Amino acid sequence: MTRREPLAAGSSAPPSEIYDVALLDLDGVVYVGPDAVPGVPEALAEARTAGMRLGFVTNNAARTPTDVADHLTALGVPAVSDDVITSSQAAATVVSGLLAPGARVLSVGGPGVAAALTAAGLVVVDRAEQEPAAVVQGYGPEVGWVQLAEAIVAVRNGARHVATNLDATIPSPRGPLPGNGAMVGVVTAITGEEPLVTGKPDPAMHAECVRRTGARRPLVVGDRLDTDIEGASRAGAASLLVLSGVTEPRTLVAARPDHRPDLLSADAAGLLTAHPAVVADGQRHRCGRWTVGPAEAEDALILEAEGPDGGEGPDDGDGLDGLRALCVAHWARHPADGAPARVIARGERAAAALDGWGLVPDGTAA
Ligand SMILES: [Mg+2]
Repeated sequence: MTRREPLAAGSSAPPSEIYDVALLDLDGVVYVGPDAVPGVPEALAEARTAGMRLGFVTNNAARTPTDVADHLTALGVPAVSDDVITSSQAAATVVSGLLAPGARVLSVGGPGVAAALTAAGLVVVDRAEQEPAAVVQGYGPEVGWVQLAEAIVAVRNGARHVATNLDATIPSPRGPLPGNGAMVGVVTAITGEEPLVTGKPDPAMHAECVRRTGARRPLVVGDRLDTDIEGASRAGAASLLVLSGVTEPRTLVAARPDHRPDLLSADAAGLLTAHPAVVADGQRHRCGRWTVGPAEAEDALILEAEGPDGGEGPDDGDGLDGLRALCVAHWARHPADGAPARVIARGERAAAALDGWGLVPDGTAA
């Protein structure tokens, strides 16, 4: 495998011209709640015009692939069910490999969970007394105490606990809300049994999407480090992190090695633009007009921008060059582990940038 140095190389041409298939996460990438991320349907249409094909890979187990495809089409991203892979399908594939055909499985989650299990030849039940051999738990906004209690009793009676994914949160217009991982945590807290997890970051879904599309150079596009980006790392695929979902810049800076993406953009329109490289110059790292270098204080970095303080300059790119430089500089010091960065701002622009990324300045430099 070639040496991977996340974010450093950038992309001299738009990713839509370099990669043949985008493996797109949905929540926080194409839509947040019911609505499209502004500009993303138009950007995806343009990427398709440039020759890029699109596959949709979601850890959200609540809906069937057909429902998801219909939603995408209504938002202006035409899709058919075969373009969509859900973590419910991944769970059904795994469970049908563990159990005999016709085995009983307790479904906890939205209609997508039960539909995938039925399609895989399993018999869906809803009560622990029906002696299911497995419990498959996926996200569904209707999941409540009654379903969780059935799951707990079934697992305690020996059923295998399978989770479609462990995303702790889902993005919403009101901020992060409980995801499947939070609800799975209720069951594991009582049973003490660790579930088998089948969605991202397990690479099976990305691999299935590559198989269906015949992708030769896939690019994973996602908003979560511990599912999308880790899944891409495990699959050996390139990745683009978008900031339209759950990941905050300060979380990205502190990411561990397998959570570091190859490319970064505000949203999926980053498929259509070149991405600047981060250039190392001795101990300093430069991206656009931003520079990150070592501070006198041990372990700290100094962030600064060229040019006058004030509004964004014409060469400020997409506003993320400083963050790119900071990530690469900090990661160079932490090649094997994630750690929060200590950053000193030099000048008002740098102080404002750190504030915008949710990073508390470690001080200011003259
Ligand atoms: Mg997401």
